[in-house]
Amino acid sequence: MALGAPSSCLNHPGVEATGRCKQCGKPFCNACAVSGPTGRFCSDTCKEKHQVFIQRAQQLDRQVVSGGFLRKLRSMAIKLVIWAVAILAVAFILTKYAQIEVPILSDLLRRYVGA
Ligand SMILES: [Zn+2]
Ligand SMILES: [Zn+2]
Repeated sequence: MALGAPSSCLNHPGVEATGRCKQCGKPFCNACAVSGPTGRFCSDTCKEKHQVFIQRAQQLDRQVVSGGFLRKLRSMAIKLVIWAVAILAVAFILTKYAQIEVPILSDLLRRYVGA
């Protein structure tokens, strides 16, 4: 058999294969092909195996996506806190030492920190 030539069905030697199993890669003819939602397979066993495989991959994808989202949210929250602290510190210094009114913040600082 030359490389790239159509191989024969794994169940029917001599019958030209029309496709390959998505799970195990074995060639099959139209009579043997098992169609599933995820592709064509040589047997029901392979179809089920592939479906389980796809489901696991999707679950893994979802986990990775949600994990990444939470990490992003946390780093955003940390940045926000750092910014808030920095802005409050600047407002505190301006209000207390430079006697500059910072809208809203000066009032807040006087009320809660006694600046
Ligand atoms: Zn197979
Ligand atoms: Zn066949």
